[in-house]
Amino acid sequence: MKHFPAIEYRHRRLLARLLAAMLVLLMPIGISGCEKADEREFFAMDAYMRIRVFGAPEGALDEAADEIEALSALLSATDEKSEIYALNHAEGKAMTVSPDAFDIIERGLELSRELGGCFELSLRPVSRAWGFTEDENRVPPESELRELLKLVGDERIVTDRAARTVALPAGFELDLGALAKGYAADRAKERLSDAGVSAALIDLGSSTILAFGKKPDGSKWKIAVRDPMGGDTPAGTIEFDGGAISTSGGWERYFEGPDGQVYWHIIDPRTGAPARTGAYSVTVLTDDALYGDALSTALFVMGPDGAKEYYEAHGDFEYLMFSEDGGMLMSPGMKGLFTPAG
Ligand code: AMP
Ligand code: MG
Repeated sequence: MKHFPAIEYRHRRLLARLLAAMLVLLMPIGISGCEKADEREFFAMDAYMRIRVFGAPEGALDEAADEIEALSALLSATDEKSEIYALNHAEGKAMTVSPDAFDIIERGLELSRELGGCFELSLRPVSRAWGFTEDENRVPPESELRELLKLVGDERIVTDRAARTVALPAGFELDLGALAKGYAADRAKERLSDAGVSAALIDLGSSTILAFGKKPDGSKWKIAVRDPMGGDTPAGTIEFDGGAISTSGGWERYFEGPDGQVYWHIIDPRTGAPARTGAYSVTVLTDDALYGDALSTALFVMGPDGAKEYYEAHGDFEYLMFSEDGGMLMSPGMKGLFTPAG
């Protein structure tokens, strides 16, 4: 079991200040144009969400928001009425699930294979021990984590596409928190496109933003990236033609343990402990939001060196990473899209 290093006092102080100041990292910058934008704000998946659309037929916006709310109820690991809750309590038996649940699980398992042990859908027994989903935080002893890691391993999950069943080994539990918003953003985009919407910005709580189509004024989509090391001042902006922007950060959910260390919600499945490989915040740009959501979590776990290697091997995304020591790393493609503030 790897011990992760204690955060120095000056670092902790900085973190506490930043974490308090930062509720959001990414902010969509005002959309202007002569065509009227419609907007809807709502709360789902523990986040304030906002969808802005251009040229939307009556009802399209509501349909997209309703779809996200339905997915939120379906995919929650804590809601006793959800399908994922039922699957997590199926005690080793195969269970027939809805097409949406099947789709997200199958695609999540594919990504889990690709992301080389840094990303596990079946991490819930471990993340629950840290109290992140139940908000009763504690630092579990290593012996407990070692035992719980025996209940983690996506390769042991069996799916059957024809029967639309999923079987988790007894004791296994899924936590789709790392990719549910991405899936929901992709589905909302599908809904809006099918309804004939020409352009939209789907902001699912700032950590997942999907933009598609051309804005009426022809300008690019523009997102402000707040600097996790610099309080309220944005680090810069990303201008892009469309796609999904996902962020995973240690500042999003964390607690300070009795030992004074900060423990955050992104877990390294190799140790069962919060990932301390040098990353503090990762933002990725991808074509689809599900991939981006999973990827930002996994690149966080990989850390600066692992993320660079993964990028060089795949190259189907761009990324920006703030490291714990205050550094900022960018993929070559991101350099052309990101304009630093000032
Ligand atoms: P995100 O904010 O998208 O990075 O997702 C973080 C959430 O995903 C956490 O709150 C956990 O529910 C879950 N999670 C944490 N670590 C991992 C991991 N290594 N692989 C998959 N899911 C994770
Ligand atoms: Mg994620």
